[in-house]
Amino acid sequence: MQRFARTFRENPSLSKLLIVFTVSGGSLVAYSEATKPHDSNNLGDLTEANNQKKRVVVLGTGWAGTSFLKNLKDPSYDVQVISPRNYFAFTPLLPSVTCGTVEGRSIVEPIRNIIRKKNVDMCYSEAECIKIDAKNKKVYCRSNLNGKEEFAVDYDYLVIAIGARVNTFNIPGVEENTFFLKEVEDAQRIRRTVIDCFEKASLPYLTDEERKRILHFVIVGGGPTGVEFAAQLHDFVSEDVVRLYPKVKDFVKITLVEATDHILNMFDKRITAFAEEKFGRDGIDVKTGSMVVKVSDKEISTKDVKSGDITSTPYGMVVWSTGIGTRPVVTNFMKEIGQGHRRVLATDEWLRVEGSDTVYALGDTATINQRKVMEDIAVIFQKADKDNSGTLTKKEFQEVLNDICERYPQVEIYLKNNQISGLVDLLKEAKGDDVKESVEVDIEEFKSALSKVDSQMKNLPATAQVASQQGVYLADCFNRMEKCEKDPEGPIRFRGEGRHRFRPFRYKHLGQFAPLGGEQTAAQLPGDWVSIGHSTQWLWYSVYASKQVSWRTRALVVTDWTRRFLFGRDSSQI
Ligand code: FAD
Ligand code: MG
Repeated sequence: MQRFARTFRENPSLSKLLIVFTVSGGSLVAYSEATKPHDSNNLGDLTEANNQKKRVVVLGTGWAGTSFLKNLKDPSYDVQVISPRNYFAFTPLLPSVTCGTVEGRSIVEPIRNIIRKKNVDMCYSEAECIKIDAKNKKVYCRSNLNGKEEFAVDYDYLVIAIGARVNTFNIPGVEENTFFLKEVEDAQRIRRTVIDCFEKASLPYLTDEERKRILHFVIVGGGPTGVEFAAQLHDFVSEDVVRLYPKVKDFVKITLVEATDHILNMFDKRITAFAEEKFGRDGIDVKTGSMVVKVSDKEISTKDVKSGDITSTPYGMVVWSTGIGTRPVVTNFMKEIGQGHRRVLATDEWLRVEGSDTVYALGDTATINQRKVMEDIAVIFQKADKDNSGTLTKKEFQEVLNDICERYPQVEIYLKNNQISGLVDLLKEAKGDDVKESVEVDIEEFKSALSKVDSQMKNLPATAQVASQQGVYLADCFNRMEKCEKDPEGPIRFRGEGRHRFRPFRYKHLGQFAPLGGEQTAAQLPGDWVSIGHSTQWLWYSVYASKQVSWRTRALVVTDWTRRFLFGRDSSQI
C-alpha cells in the first residue's frame, strides 16, 4: 500500500488519470502541468556555478509570485522565494471556505510542492520582507517563526509580488471589530464565528432581542467578494441552518452595505439588476448609498450618503470587504525611489518599477503607469517623419503604425471603441479631408488626431487573472532575457535608439464570475456577453476546477463539492 502511495505521489500523471476518470469527462477544461520532478535539496546548495548565476529574489507566494515561479524555466537563475506564507492560496474559493462548502486545506498548495518540480534552482524562506534597499540591491527580512530573526538577502533582480492589505479607510473600530476576508485563516475564522453565533443564539437563557442581534450578519462592500460571501451565508442558512438550528432560524438577518448606488457595479447592468433582485427575494437586505462611519463592539453606524442621516444597528458579526491598500514595506520603498507622492507603486509597461531598473512589481502590489501618447507626440512625429520634411505622408505613417499600436495600446482601444478602421482614417478625419487619397499631416494636425486616444486608458483591476497573467509574462521575459538582449523584439523606442527588448505586457480579459447563491452564478464574458443562472453555475464549477494549481487541490475541491451535495455543510466547531 505504501509503495503504491509513493509511486502515485512521484508520478503525478497517474493522479491525473485517476481524476480524469473520477470527474466525469467533458466538463473539465483541459489543463497541463509543467512538471519535471527535480530532486535537488536546494538549501545550502550553493556551488561555484550557482555563484555565477543571476540571483532573483521573489517576494510573495500569491497569484503573481506563484505564476512567475511556475513559468520560469531558464536554469541560469538562482531563485530565492521569500514569503510569510509557505503555500499558494486559491483566493476565488475563499468565500466558499467561510461556510464550509470547501475546506481551507483544499484550496492551498505548499510552495515547496511547486518549486521542487522545477529545473531551476529555487529555495524558499518563510519570512516577511521588511525593507527593500534598491540602492544596494538588498532586501531585509524577518523570519516568520519563533525567534523572529532578521536577515538580509542580495539580489540581481527583485520581483515584488506581495499583494495588498485590506483597506479600513481609518474608520474607527473596523480593525478591532470586523472580520476581513483576505487569507485562508480569515475564512476559517469567519466559519468558526458564524457557527459560534448560531450556537450562542441557541443558548436557553437569551432574550429574543439578544438572539436577533447575535444573528444579524453585516457585510460591508458590495463588490464580488462581499456579494459572494452574502450568497454563501444565505445558502448555509437556507440549506443547513434550517435543519440544524430550527429554533433560531427565524432570527437570522443578512445585511449588505454598499456606499455607491448599486452592488457589483463593475459588472454589466443586467448582472447588477439580477443580483439585487435575487437578494431582495432571498431576504438579504441590500443597503446601497450607505457608508460605514464607525463600528463598536456591538453596533455598526452607517451614514446615508444622500441625507447624511446616521443610523446605528446592533450586529453579531461584521465582515469587511471594501478594497485594498498598499503594504507599509512598499510605501517606504516608494519614498526611497521617488514615488512617495503616489498611492500605488507604479511600473512601466514591462512591469519594471519606475525609477529602479532591476526591480519588477506585479499583481495587486503595483499598477502599470501607461505612457500617454500626448507626452510623446513630438518624438513620435519626429521618428516617423523620416525625410524631415515637417509633414507625415501616409507611407511614413504606416511604417510606424504597428510600433505605435504596440507601445500605446490605448490607440487600438480608441479606434475599436469609435469604430474607426485604422489610424490613417483617424488622420483623415482630423484633416477633414476624406476625399484626398494621400493624406499628409503636420505636427498640429497629428496632435489633434491623437488628442483623444489617452482618454481610453484604464488601470487594470486587482484580480487573480491580472496577477497570474503578469507572472507568466514576466517569467517569459526572464526566460528569453539573453536572446532578446541581442535580438530585441519590442516596439521602436520613440525616445531613444533601437527597439525595446520585449513587447509590453498586454492583459487578456477572459471574463468574470459572480456567484449569487442557490446554485446560480452570473458571468460576464469577453465581448460583454452575459450569462446568468444554473448552467453558468456549472461553468463556474468547471472553470474553477480546471484553474486549480495542482491535481491534488483539484481532487480535494471536487471531493468537497461532492461531499456538500451529498451530506450538506459540516457545522462542527473545531
Ligand atoms: P496575493 O495573492 O495576495 O499574494 C501576496 C503574497 O505575498 C502572499 O503569499 C503573502 O503571504 C505574501 N506577502 C505579504 N507580505 C509580504 C512581505 N512583506 N514579504 C514577502 N511576502 C509577503 N480575483 C479574481 O480574478 N477572481 C476571483 O474570483 C477573485 N476572488 C477573490 C476572493 C477573495 C476573498 C479575495 C480576497 C480576492 C479575490 N480575488 C479574485 C483577487 C485576487 O485574489 C487578487 O487579485 C490576487 O490574489 C492578487 O495576487 P498577488 O499575487 O498580487 O497577491
Ligand atoms: Mg515627411
